[in-house]
Amino acid sequence: MKNTLCILICLVLTLGLSVAAFASNTVVSINPSQTEIKDGATTFTVSLSNAPYVTSALVNITLDDGLSLVSGQWENKGVINDFAVSNGYGVIAFSEKTSLNGTVFSFTVKGNSPSSEQKIQVSFKFKNGSSNVGTASATTTVNVMCKAHSFSEWTATKTQSCTEAGSISRSCVVCKYTETQDIPATGHAYGEWQVNVQPNCYWEGMQKRVCATCGMTEEEIMPKTEHLFEEQWTVVLSPTCYSDGLETRACTICGDTEEKIIYSTHTYDDNWIIQSEPTCCFQGCQVRYCIECGSVPEYVYTGKLDHNFIFDYIIFDSTEIETGSMQVVCEYCGTTQIVEIPVKAPNEYDTDTNYSDDLSHPDPEYGRGDPIPTPDEYVSKDDNTTLYVVISIIAVLLVGAGIAVLLIFKKKKSSDPINDTEPYEFENPEE
Ligand SMILES: [Zn+2]
Ligand SMILES: [Zn+2]
Ligand SMILES: [Zn+2]
Ligand SMILES: [Zn+2]
Ligand SMILES: [Zn+2]
Repeated sequence: MKNTLCILICLVLTLGLSVAAFASNTVVSINPSQTEIKDGATTFTVSLSNAPYVTSALVNITLDDGLSLVSGQWENKGVINDFAVSNGYGVIAFSEKTSLNGTVFSFTVKGNSPSSEQKIQVSFKFKNGSSNVGTASATTTVNVMCKAHSFSEWTATKTQSCTEAGSISRSCVVCKYTETQDIPATGHAYGEWQVNVQPNCYWEGMQKRVCATCGMTEEEIMPKTEHLFEEQWTVVLSPTCYSDGLETRACTICGDTEEKIIYSTHTYDDNWIIQSEPTCCFQGCQVRYCIECGSVPEYVYTGKLDHNFIFDYIIFDSTEIETGSMQVVCEYCGTTQIVEIPVKAPNEYDTDTNYSDDLSHPDPEYGRGDPIPTPDEYVSKDDNTTLYVVISIIAVLLVGAGIAVLLIFKKKKSSDPINDTEPYEFENPEE
């Protein structure tokens, strides 16, 4: 029995303590908690947590001089819902005990003039019947912003480094409005490169530089340099007419060698041997040979000679008013060409024209109608010149003898001397 009583007493005590703790731990929240009031008014809501069950509650809102109360109202529905803007006091009452947890009140405030850190205090008093069951309050501060701020100088809020950005800020001296700007990292301020290891064609080099601001060191590999070869090549294997040779040279620093092929080549005699002379129909040809191996002839061709035209025969003789034409023939190859005979001057009309003044008479060997000789015949012609001359003289003598015989024979047969002297004259019909 005693134990049961003890437990009951303990329970009652614990409950009593709990209720007391409950009432005193009521938390008031004002939203928004901190703000800047610009043009117009701002509305705040008031919430409670750990609030007791009550039959009535009182609210009191007090403001600093920079602020004025515009309106206030209870969010819960009670039998009495009162609030006076003039003094900031209000009351709510219920017909039975009611929980006040959650949003209970809201009010609207406006700024009187630009100012900073203006306090708003909200206080509650809770009652059951006529007995007080607890109080709770909260405070918040607001800045009433200027339309045009009066800023102080920029000051560094975080100093930038080589690698990290910094920031600066300034505040309005009236409403404490603050603005901030980022300052980018400066980057390292490196000095000149200092060569630690000089590179060459055998190994890489290394250089470094130091930041004057933070002392950070940066290192860099320097690439190998080119070889520095001897200027003179050394022939290791001489080339011949049919096999390549080889020459080398060494790097004066690391001793590496590089090779170069000397291509095989023939060495030609400076003197050319004439194979054939040029004519008016064919190019001439010269040849020379390698003085080392005696083979691989190299040919060079010389240009053709000009034709040497001489008179052949008249096609139309010229008159005093018209030009004529005649054929000329190359004395070496027989190529013919038609050329113009110029108009005669009046005094040369009756005289015999002798074209051989301009063009020598055709070579007897190359009469009109003779075939155009081939170069071979042309070359061999020189050897037979004497023979042709002898034959020609004999032929002329024979023809001359024939004509003489014919004339003698005619004279004996005819007794009319006129017929002899003018054989082509027309007979006069009156005779
Ligand atoms: Zn301001
Ligand atoms: Zn640095
Ligand atoms: Zn080298
Ligand atoms: Zn050769
Ligand atoms: Zn010719």
